[in-house]
Amino acid sequence: MTRAPITRRALITGVTGQDGSYLAELLLARGYEVHGVTRDADEVVTDGVVAHELDLATDSAIAQLISDVEPNEIYNLAALSSVYQSWQNPALTARLNGAVVAEMLAAVKLIHDRGNTDIRFVQASSAEIFGAPNESPQNEETTVRPTSPYGAAKAYAHGLVGAYRTAGVAASSVILYNHESPRRPETFVTRKITAAAARISAGKQETLELGNMEAQRDWGWAPDYADALMRAAKHSKPDDFVIATGVSHSVRDFVAAAFERAGVDDWQDRVSVSETLLRTGDAALQLGDASKARKVLGWSPTVKFDEIVAAMVDHDLALLS
Ligand code: GDP
Repeated sequence: MTRAPITRRALITGVTGQDGSYLAELLLARGYEVHGVTRDADEVVTDGVVAHELDLATDSAIAQLISDVEPNEIYNLAALSSVYQSWQNPALTARLNGAVVAEMLAAVKLIHDRGNTDIRFVQASSAEIFGAPNESPQNEETTVRPTSPYGAAKAYAHGLVGAYRTAGVAASSVILYNHESPRRPETFVTRKITAAAARISAGKQETLELGNMEAQRDWGWAPDYADALMRAAKHSKPDDFVIATGVSHSVRDFVAAAFERAGVDDWQDRVSVSETLLRTGDAALQLGDASKARKVLGWSPTVKFDEIVAAMVDHDLALLS
């Protein structure tokens, strides 16, 4: 007798975002039944995802949803994602990036304690938990010492994941360094730059204002980071994992590469620094050491800095034509 294949079920919060959409595609391609939390009916959800409308900012129904769906794997990607905006909305940041994680883990533990001990929880943590890091590169042992409301809330969630793991829940915290793609919104510096470079090359924009151009970030390719989240969920031993490329570039490097790709030579005359875009507590340099993920999860980045810049600029040029 042939048996129907057992379908694994995943629940993704933040399913309409950059990472959520890539992860949903990966899981659907592997035959998963994918459920996703969306804020409202207007959001575009990947085809095939079962959408559940729920505003995590005001609603505590996520625990009930977890209990109803009882997924094999839960990926928490919902967050107030902008470090800059976290200074404008620290309490909302605490709720979305912190308290919601407590609600989710409590719900997972209830299911675990009922006897389903294989339910997996994966938290999308962030390099921002290290604030202005006291060592370079950073790894899973680096001191957690955030310097923004965003980082502080993510640090709380990171600590919670560790606490629930100690209590027996299969929870992993994946410390993601910046990861980019054409699906990044322009609130992030990379997409702001590539969209501007494309518009300037097409004569639709004159200049670009940025904040700190000397900040150095470890930029990776977002689909690689979705793959890391899935690997963390699948691994038999939950843990903390840094996911990064191990190479950093300055915002200035990104600007130079993007304008070169867009065919604009005189970018030095077009780009200026605005004091209003400088940030409090902005790390000068982030650089991640993903050796543990390489060894334990078999993960490695597949797309290099120049290729990321090229893919994003080419996408933005194509949007204009
Ligand atoms: P984040 O690291 O998750 O906050 O990602 P961002 O892309 O928003 O910021 C990356 C770095 O770019 C930070 O060091 C910012 O201070 C710096 N940056 C410089 N100019 C800008 C800007 O105009 N917008 C944004 N979002 N970041 C900027």
